[in-house]
Amino acid sequence: MSSRKEAASSTNGTSGTEFHVQGVPISHIAEEFGTPVFVYDAEELRSVYQSLRDRLHPAVDVFFSLKANPNISITSRLGSLGAGAEISSMVELMTVTRAGIAPDDIIFLGPGKTRAELEACVAAGVYAIVCESLDEVAEIEEIAAATGRDEVPVLLRVNPDFHTKGSGLTMGGKPRQFGIDADILRRSRGLLDRLRRVRVRGFHAYMGTRFLGAEDLAHNTRQILALADELAQALGIELETVDFGGGFGVAYFDNEKDLDLRATVAGINEVVEPFAAAHPRCRLINELGRYLTATCGTYVVRARYVKESMGERFVVADGGTNHHMAAVGVGSFVKRNFPIRSLTRYDDEPTGTYTVTGPLCTPNDVIGKKVVLPPVQAGDLLGVERSGAYGPTASPGLFLGHGFPAEVLVHNGTAHLVRERDRKEELLTKQRLIDFD
Ligand SMILES: *Cc1c(COP(=O)(O)O)cnc(C)c1O
Repeated sequence: MSSRKEAASSTNGTSGTEFHVQGVPISHIAEEFGTPVFVYDAEELRSVYQSLRDRLHPAVDVFFSLKANPNISITSRLGSLGAGAEISSMVELMTVTRAGIAPDDIIFLGPGKTRAELEACVAAGVYAIVCESLDEVAEIEEIAAATGRDEVPVLLRVNPDFHTKGSGLTMGGKPRQFGIDADILRRSRGLLDRLRRVRVRGFHAYMGTRFLGAEDLAHNTRQILALADELAQALGIELETVDFGGGFGVAYFDNEKDLDLRATVAGINEVVEPFAAAHPRCRLINELGRYLTATCGTYVVRARYVKESMGERFVVADGGTNHHMAAVGVGSFVKRNFPIRSLTRYDDEPTGTYTVTGPLCTPNDVIGKKVVLPPVQAGDLLGVERSGAYGPTASPGLFLGHGFPAEVLVHNGTAHLVRERDRKEELLTKQRLIDFD
């Protein structure tokens, strides 16, 4: 967040009070690329990654979960800084390959991988396919045999039998479609011993997303490493890799506080240190999506109308939940607001409350309820901050045929288009008009 503030204040007095990204005024970006638009600050992206990397134990590799933001330029930037990739679809595999991430730094997971995806992973020689069931392991053995491959590396995703706390959305430790129950794994030695072409490198566990407590994350890591040790012994596997997940959160709502990175990493390092000493050749993986990309992104919309209804003031903007579904409250039916700012009057004092809505014909198209803002006029730019994760790709972009917005990445003081806005014609090409006569 700090780079943004500096950018705004460093240009104060010369360009007024509008929001800047690396010195580029937001009005210029909006004019050149149109609105709605997602604007990413590559310097913020770098600094978030780098401050994590600089602190984290050297035995731990950071992998970027593309699910949070699959843009190829974002991926490539993180890759060039040293991040690996955690992916879950054929398109994501194509993305990371084109973004220049080495196969040895790619893992592929997901509960319902297709045969074609498994075959592509084997052919690409990814670092590991993360298996979510024993049937999947058997299928990979079959593919390896059919294609004459040996030593196809996999990680077994374990659904741990311990509970977790502090997550906004838990993914393990209860009945889930993900992974293999720890208890089932403990009884699977015979089956795993019969594998001829698949090599089990170790284990993967992911407890959930949006953790904001340093202690919860250290606690999870400790439990996962201990479980990996126990399972490796039970199954007679030499641990080459443990992916202990991640789920680092960022604060979105008033009642939340950002993760204390220093304390979080110190807690994780403390757990990792003895483990790494006992397993000097074991690669540890910390996979992160939201934490790496959320703060670098702003969803920029233009106010079309400002109106009043029964005593409540509304800003009707040109974009809404069709591009930013998360703004209606992540994993929650209680609507809480993401940080929303006037980008046109970035430094002005808030003076009134506005409910910010989009262009959709549904009352649910609200990106911020009773947001406190400086005076808003039609034509002003508003920004939903911390929107670099789970934005367009996690939103119903085709609803009402608006299509997906442009995405712009500001790098070294220059704004680059990194995704074109959907074209109207494009949105219709896949439909077929049949002849009714
Ligand atoms: C979604 C997901 C991630 C990324 O989660 P974040 O909370 O965005 O970091 C990582 N691993 C798995 C298995 C996931 O499902």
